[in-house]
Amino acid sequence: MNLPLTIAMPAEASAAPKTYRLLIDGKFVDARDGRTLERNSPGHGFTVSRYAQAGEAEVEAAVQAAHKAFETGPWPRMKAGERAAILLKTADLIEARLEEIARLDVLESGKPIAQARGEIGGAVDIWRYAAALARTLHGETYANLGDAMLGVVLREPIGVVSIITPWNFPFLIVSQKLPFALAAGCTAVVKPSEMTSASTFVLGDILMQAGLPDGVVNILAGLGADVGAPMVAHPLVEMVSFTGSTRVGKMTMASAADSLKKVSMELGGKNGQIVFPDADLEAAADAAVFGGFFNAGECCNAGSRLIVHEAIADDFLGAVKALTARVAVGDPLDDSTKVGAMISSEHLSKVTGYIAAAANDGSSVYIGGKQIASCAGQYLDPTILRGVTEDMAIAREEVFGPVLSVLTFGSIEEALRIANNTPYGLSAGVWSASIDTCMSVARNVRSGTVWVNTFMEGYPELPFGGYKQSGLGRELGKRAVEDYTEEKTIQFHRGQRTGWWVG
Ligand code: NAD
Repeated sequence: MNLPLTIAMPAEASAAPKTYRLLIDGKFVDARDGRTLERNSPGHGFTVSRYAQAGEAEVEAAVQAAHKAFETGPWPRMKAGERAAILLKTADLIEARLEEIARLDVLESGKPIAQARGEIGGAVDIWRYAAALARTLHGETYANLGDAMLGVVLREPIGVVSIITPWNFPFLIVSQKLPFALAAGCTAVVKPSEMTSASTFVLGDILMQAGLPDGVVNILAGLGADVGAPMVAHPLVEMVSFTGSTRVGKMTMASAADSLKKVSMELGGKNGQIVFPDADLEAAADAAVFGGFFNAGECCNAGSRLIVHEAIADDFLGAVKALTARVAVGDPLDDSTKVGAMISSEHLSKVTGYIAAAANDGSSVYIGGKQIASCAGQYLDPTILRGVTEDMAIAREEVFGPVLSVLTFGSIEEALRIANNTPYGLSAGVWSASIDTCMSVARNVRSGTVWVNTFMEGYPELPFGGYKQSGLGRELGKRAVEDYTEEKTIQFHRGQRTGWWVG
């Protein structure tokens, strides 16, 4: 760490950038005005991708295609088992191209390759889980309404869904949304982040190969204002599933309110890991480092606040610091790398700005804090800040970089107050050998997920989402398909209707 990084140039650096065309109505097409967007690899500093750049005309064409596929196409009408077969085929094809997809995500996002492989493997599992849910989706019947009445509650696909995703887990996050929308029988327009669109286009290719009918999934590359905003406002879109920052999430909700669309929001986080003296401190120290620096801290679930009991603070933080010094920062394509490049130089400046402001506010850099000189990309040392207090911006705002802020507590009440003292409520962790302590924290912390003596695990079976300004609704879990449905109540009356109104 701290030594200048020498980054080996991958083979892709000496080839022309890979090009991607928009997927509209089953065909890969250029933008009507021929515009393109380029993406520079943040870890290697060369142009890795060039996408056709959509604008309002392409949004219109994509939404119309999705609408036609929903209104008149086979997808919403086919048997769930037939839809499930296509989702399972998709999972198999993703698995077969796992290495290619992982490498695209690495080159575009700067994340480490070993981690990216895990994400794509996780995505395969989610596609298979959604296929299983497709076959269990069902409504309800009410035969308890008297002899002449049978109540039936149907679950129908909601319609065209706009799916908007961020850059930090490009393939994984689209896989937390799209398979469930498809399982329900919906059609979709998908917009990945303008910085990491490549793997979503590979998914489009896979879906067509798996036999998805034309127009069911349309994929647009482009900027938020040009593409995301009209995808949200379009009157033929019935639901918006958004993952991204709380700032853009709020704008999206406000725009969706105009036509009263259903929204699902997965937004930012400022998550705390609370460590008590009776915990397995070795495991907790490792999890603190993992929570703070996984994906270079560019993670909604980052355990960016380490909330440590004051009795163990010095020893425990010593262990955390020693582990941090051993974190392998470097070439995202190196199998042993744990922390790769930051997504962009602008974002890197924002994160170093937070570190400088925190120092100004009275905290001190315990380790790290500096940009690492590199021949190619932009890298930041994993950083720990001590002496952070609840009122500082660094303790309340999402930094989205490899920066761990340490706060200390003396009682469980104080720990809970600190943990809850943020506008966010995505996740939290607690480390203690006492079931009483763990349960008290788990029950009283205001967040959508609480990890007890572990951190940042995920399973398709478990719902995921945020309290407070971390979001609205839940993804994954057994109700994930229901989210993309409307309920329709049908009342069947048998025989002559009684109790006439006029008579
Ligand atoms: P972002 O909000 O800047 O962008 C997210 C997406 O929205 C991108 O595709 C972007 O192009 C699009 N967008 C931008 N302006 C838009 C507009 N006016 N209308 C519609 N769409 C628009 O977020 P980001 O920087 O890409 O991602 C990082 C953020 O995502 C962090 O805050 C992180 O916590 C959050 N995130 C949350 C979760 C979760 O599950 N809760 C998961 C991953 C990331």
